[in-house]
Amino acid sequence: MPTGENAGDWRVEARGLVASAAALIRELAEEGVADFERIAETSATSPTASIGAPASAAVRVGRIESGPVVAPLLAPEVAKIATPSPVSTHPRAGAHHDLDAVRLELGDCRRCGLCEGREKIVFGDGNPNADILFIGEGPGEQEDRTGLPFVGRAGELLTQMIEKGMGLARSEVYICNIVKCRPPGNRNPLPPEVSACRPFLDGQIEAVAPKVIVTLGKPAASLLLDREIAITRMRGSWQEYRGIPLMPTLHPAYVLRQYTPENRRAVWQDLRAALERSRA
Ligand code: URA
Repeated sequence: MPTGENAGDWRVEARGLVASAAALIRELAEEGVADFERIAETSATSPTASIGAPASAAVRVGRIESGPVVAPLLAPEVAKIATPSPVSTHPRAGAHHDLDAVRLELGDCRRCGLCEGREKIVFGDGNPNADILFIGEGPGEQEDRTGLPFVGRAGELLTQMIEKGMGLARSEVYICNIVKCRPPGNRNPLPPEVSACRPFLDGQIEAVAPKVIVTLGKPAASLLLDREIAITRMRGSWQEYRGIPLMPTLHPAYVLRQYTPENRRAVWQDLRAALERSRA
């Protein structure tokens, strides 16, 4: 067990893990799940459950979608910008000066402890002028390795939902997360970590200025709506964030875990509603 200077950090981390576990158990109970098996995310190249894949795929997920309420938010630390990482090389990214400015300001971020364990910052990906903005929770193992959001198992399902469910190319939408660095062991991000990243999430929302926001899972919806929500109850009902219509839906990792026709239909309906609203 760490002693001296690092002992406090260790205790904060341990308390966060316990809080995450407790919140997960509460959420699972709310979903009517008594027990489950959690297997760490493996290779992005391994087969992923498709929309019509067998239910056995449901247990093979890494990040889980439930977690503690991410608010209350603390004031962000004063920005200390080290050597900035290169801005997005997406062909249309240069067209949107503001998004590049947000990335530049994020720099080689060391505003919270998540920087210690990360391999790459996962800023966001897609069309900087997208009509639809997806917001997840935080990068997992594959995302940390590649620097791109939603490229692991959950990401493959999200991509299918966008491409097959909505009939859009993934590059037409913009995808980002609440936090831009991977929480160790895929735990839920802690309030100070969420707080440190919040200005950059808001910067992304402002820069992309989407017609519709789709939040994936409970933490993203709870953060933007500034209250703890029950995602299975709220999903599918229109909300608003700073004047932008917001559709809360289930996290694809949750859908993989609870791979039922009801959940797949629910996400399908939510995404169709988001698409229609973005075109209205
Ligand atoms: N889960 C998330 O919430 N975000 C990712 O980028 C990957 C998995």
